[in-house]
Amino acid sequence: MKNFNVNKDGFYGDFGGAFIPEMLFPNIDELQKNYIKISESKEFKKEFNQLLHDYVGRPTPLYYAKRLSEKFKTKIYLKREDLCHTGAHKINNTIGQILLAKKLGKKRIIAETGAGQHGVATATVCALMGVECVIYMGEVDISRQAPNVARMKMLGAKVRPATSGSKTLKDATNEAIRDWISNPVDTHYIIGSVVGPHPYPDMVARFQSVIGYETKKQLLKFENTENPTHVIACVGGGSNAAGLFYPFLNNKNVNIVCVEAAGKGVHSGESAATSILGTEGIIHGSKTLLMQTKDGQITEPYSISAGLDYPGIGPMHANLFRSKRGEFISIDDSDAMKWGLILSQMEGIIPAIETSHAFAVLDKMKFGKNDIIIFNCSGRGDKDLDTYINYFKL
Ligand SMILES: *Cc1c(COP(=O)(O)O)cnc(C)c1O
Repeated sequence: MKNFNVNKDGFYGDFGGAFIPEMLFPNIDELQKNYIKISESKEFKKEFNQLLHDYVGRPTPLYYAKRLSEKFKTKIYLKREDLCHTGAHKINNTIGQILLAKKLGKKRIIAETGAGQHGVATATVCALMGVECVIYMGEVDISRQAPNVARMKMLGAKVRPATSGSKTLKDATNEAIRDWISNPVDTHYIIGSVVGPHPYPDMVARFQSVIGYETKKQLLKFENTENPTHVIACVGGGSNAAGLFYPFLNNKNVNIVCVEAAGKGVHSGESAATSILGTEGIIHGSKTLLMQTKDGQITEPYSISAGLDYPGIGPMHANLFRSKRGEFISIDDSDAMKWGLILSQMEGIIPAIETSHAFAVLDKMKFGKNDIIIFNCSGRGDKDLDTYINYFKL
């Protein structure tokens, strides 16, 4: 049987690695040599688990969705990451990385952000730890995402605009990398998903794997088994999905389902369905599937949900796709929005629009009455209320 975890060189099958400029070598090398040693130490685990419990509010519930289960004649459970402090799973990773940064003696944190969710999760843990925080954000995104910019500032972070190129996420990432090259000794760069050069994808997956491990324990009480038949999550970069899938990667009896954003339609020219539309290339220091033109220019992705419009997917997911270990489904804006409303009215849970994409597979896949399906409810919909209001004319 194949192993779907990272190998010792930082690859998942054909994907991953660390394709970085020479000047980033010392930073990446330091992380590669230390991330497992530190994060697996007893002292680290104690601190990490304590903060996840007391500050984030873990364990998050595993909730049996009774009405949905009855409607679809199967067993549906929701892993409630929407109940985490700051409203989504992202904080699991930022807590892990700031603890790691402190153990490495770092005094300053930088991060990139697109819609601002990762920026807020990073600014939050920097406030918690009293560490200086600089967030790079495209100038266009700064004007589109005013509430999150305000949150970051209120939390004490400096928000620096990226003014080159399309003034969005990839330009912010370039600025963050430039900063890191100039400040290699005292600064740690917190990447927000399972993307970037090795060891980031594996490091972030490990910090997020608390989602999957909790699920196993909780499911045992409900169903007398630790293993569901299906685990389903939306994929932007892939971190909430990686966290849920992690303990099941090498158990072929558990079906893995990745849900991507089809935007206005997979072939409309306005989508973020990276696995279907992507080709092999290098983005943010790792080899993966990404949307690009024939001559290697990155195509601007589109989705109604800001958290899913990333032009690549993490290398773990690229490998799940190519090896067919994972099933990939793309959901367009209108189906996602429809499911945001269904989940709200059938279970009393208003999901983030990213999360709504995952639930829409209930219309696309057939499930048996003895199947046990876990949906990762990655975030709550408060941040998306304006989009829901305008869309449904509420
Ligand atoms: C950021 C975000 C995502 C997408 O990021 P992943 O790394 O793919 O998990 C999904 N859901 C929510 C609620 C988010 O905030």
